[in-house]
Amino acid sequence: MFAINHAATALVIKKHYPEAPLSLLLISVQLMELLWVGFNFAGIEYSTTEATVTSVLDVHLAHIPYSHSILSTLVVASLAWLIIRKGFNKPVIAVATAIAIASHVLLDVLTHSQDIPLTPFTEINKVGLGLYAVPLAAFVVETTYGILCWWIYRGSMSLLAIIVGFNLANITFFSAAIPGPEALLADNPVLLTTVVLVQIVLTLVLVNRFSDRQDHIRQVKSKPTMPST
Ligand SMILES: [Zn+2]
Repeated sequence: MFAINHAATALVIKKHYPEAPLSLLLISVQLMELLWVGFNFAGIEYSTTEATVTSVLDVHLAHIPYSHSILSTLVVASLAWLIIRKGFNKPVIAVATAIAIASHVLLDVLTHSQDIPLTPFTEINKVGLGLYAVPLAAFVVETTYGILCWWIYRGSMSLLAIIVGFNLANITFFSAAIPGPEALLADNPVLLTTVVLVQIVLTLVLVNRFSDRQDHIRQVKSKPTMPST
């Protein structure tokens, strides 16, 4: 799943767990992806790209055993829960954070081709429902999902524009017929890692910045102004 829609997931979790800081949830939904970025730059994990890249079909997350396996996700989510629950005595925030961390790989399983290992030690039996095999359908599903998260959260129109805007900006990745910057990724997987990192940072910052909810905006607008003395 693309960065903006992972970020949108944090909005739904925030709606259900208002006590959890949105900034923490936004980092949590991308924690496994941030590990992926670090492991790729360190050469511990790697991606490959075709000699010509026209859509997501030409990008392969070839080796992601530590950042994206089901087992490592469960271990990291459990550790986060343990630290926040026992270390900081914040049971609700602990649950919200663990859900946010686990949501990343769950959503990736729904979209990715079969590149997600069950454990870091098993290269066989990888999972993935393969939505990206039909890129335009994936674009519609991802964009609809992002908008649904915004609607559940009751976000502002600015937030909607950010979610739709980032999805539209990625459309060239979802259609071989539409040329776009993905062509630059040909035989250049390091650039892929950089592009993903930039999208993670931008979407986290913007979603956090424009996270005021509609009901909150209305409350602020309808508050009577104090007469000046
Ligand atoms: Zn991912």
